[in-house]
Amino acid sequence: MRIVTDRNFGRRECPSCGCEVPANNNRCPVCGYEFPTASPLQTRLRVWGAILMLLLLLILVLGLLQ
Ligand SMILES: [Zn+2]
Repeated sequence: MRIVTDRNFGRRECPSCGCEVPANNNRCPVCGYEFPTASPLQTRLRVWGAILMLLLLLILVLGLLQ
């Protein structure tokens, strides 16, 4: 039995050489191009943005219920 691993899911195109690289691979095995990863600060800002949105939604819902 063979497990199919070469699906298009989880793959991205290398902008340098155009070959398909697995999404969990941060470096192109063909040309060595390194994919830019989101910085920890960007990730943190996105998380706080989501928390703020949830809080605003909660306040809105609570305000409507009163
Ligand atoms: Zn490449």
